[in-house]
Amino acid sequence: MSSNLQRQLDILRGAYQLERFPSLSIRLDRLRRVKAMLSENESAWCEALSEDFGYRSVDQSSFADITTSIKSVNHALKNLKFWMKAERRTPDLSLRMSGAKTYVEAFPKGVVGIVSPWNFPINLALSPLVSVLAAGNRAFIKPSEATPATSALLETLIAKYFSDSEVSVACGDVDVAQAFVKLPFDHIIYTGGEVVARHIMRDAAENLVPLTLELGGKSPVIVSASADLKLTAKRIAFGKYFNAGQICIAPDYLLIAPERLDSFLSELKAAVETADSAQGSADSVSVVNERHRQRLNNLVLDGEKQGGRILTFSGVNQSAYQLTVVIDPSDDASINCAEIFGPVLLIRTIGNLDEQIAYINQSSHPLVIYYFGRSEDEFRRVACETSSGGLVKNDVIFQYANDDLPFGGIGGSGMGKYRGEYGFKEFSNNRAVYKSGFIDVSGFVTPPYSDVFRMVNKLMRKI
Ligand code: NAD
Repeated sequence: MSSNLQRQLDILRGAYQLERFPSLSIRLDRLRRVKAMLSENESAWCEALSEDFGYRSVDQSSFADITTSIKSVNHALKNLKFWMKAERRTPDLSLRMSGAKTYVEAFPKGVVGIVSPWNFPINLALSPLVSVLAAGNRAFIKPSEATPATSALLETLIAKYFSDSEVSVACGDVDVAQAFVKLPFDHIIYTGGEVVARHIMRDAAENLVPLTLELGGKSPVIVSASADLKLTAKRIAFGKYFNAGQICIAPDYLLIAPERLDSFLSELKAAVETADSAQGSADSVSVVNERHRQRLNNLVLDGEKQGGRILTFSGVNQSAYQLTVVIDPSDDASINCAEIFGPVLLIRTIGNLDEQIAYINQSSHPLVIYYFGRSEDEFRRVACETSSGGLVKNDVIFQYANDDLPFGGIGGSGMGKYRGEYGFKEFSNNRAVYKSGFIDVSGFVTPPYSDVFRMVNKLMRKI
């Protein structure tokens, strides 16, 4: 199996070495084919997604997987010619006086491996692909085995819209994934959990393959004293309902003053009942499989055993996993540390901003921190006194809808950022170029050193 993967990598690398620097029009053509592959097969994509999830609303799939990916393509189509322009840099004064020129130009890295997860199996394979192709690379994708129908369709459609020397797909179980990340790629982007990320980093180290790691973690929600609770509850309900909370940037736990808890819970109940109305149930998404249902049940049961108060918000759609809230379990509860990744919300009654910040800072840096409130000063304090991949005020998840923002984590939530121009740069070799001027500077610093040399040497420290 690993020799098949290596053979496919050789095909991609051979083609890259022949082409080296694809023109703007070649890159635009590849991006347009990604777009065509998405829009011309929308119903097949949505059917495959629903099959994989047990049930997944067509509208949600169309919006969250197809539209978001097409938006990324459109953004790249519009901006690529500017991203590809060399960026002038100012040479050091002494070299500038010699007539030197400096600039940075983005060159393709070569072949990029994309390892993608199950929760948005199209978008999280194709959004990286957009950045990878925009930067002029070839791509080899290993999609998730947890969504076999979607991954198989991806393999079929990539083969239809691309030659196997441009983009290729390797489907398969964990053994394929393990062999895949051992290949000597020019870059790997992995989206998934932290435990696997550690293995991938070790494997990539063998070949010094640069990595972008898009991980998850526990994204907190700070509910300030100035927060509008109705709005906060509505947006939290959305964050837990959309894709059944199976989103890396879903709100994971909420920090709120004890005296505001009851009001928040009644607003949450009202928001859930609206979202989970009889018509709304057709638009729901299932927890992806039995293993993940069981994992969520265990988190809730353990939270209860550890003294947490459990509330479920039952709506009309009884077959969906009910939004479950776990309030103030003891510090030993596993839900305090494990990423929830589903329609369960942990609430900790901590109302003071100093304590909220201290609570967040005791764990590894989250992918995003959500702040609900009206105070710009508080929001600024959260920004300066914490660290996370992103920061959001009075909303959840919609930061991802902005193609012009970098996306990614820091520390435990990942490394490297992509999307838009950040993705183009992430998958480029941003080469420093220096063109010497008309004066021979090296002659000046060659012995024997003169008094003029000594004077200029001192002067250089002052400018
Ligand atoms: P998953 O089980 O689908 O695994 C992700 C990928 O890793 C798959 O392609 C799989 O084949 C591969 N894989 C599994 N074991 C491997 C191994 N030993 N070596 C190499 N590759 C291996 O997805 P998951 O990990 O359950 O995904 C959920 C996690 O992903 C959550 O933590 C979530 O927060 C995170 N996530 C992050 C982002 C982001 O953009 N930051 C987006 C979505 C999900």
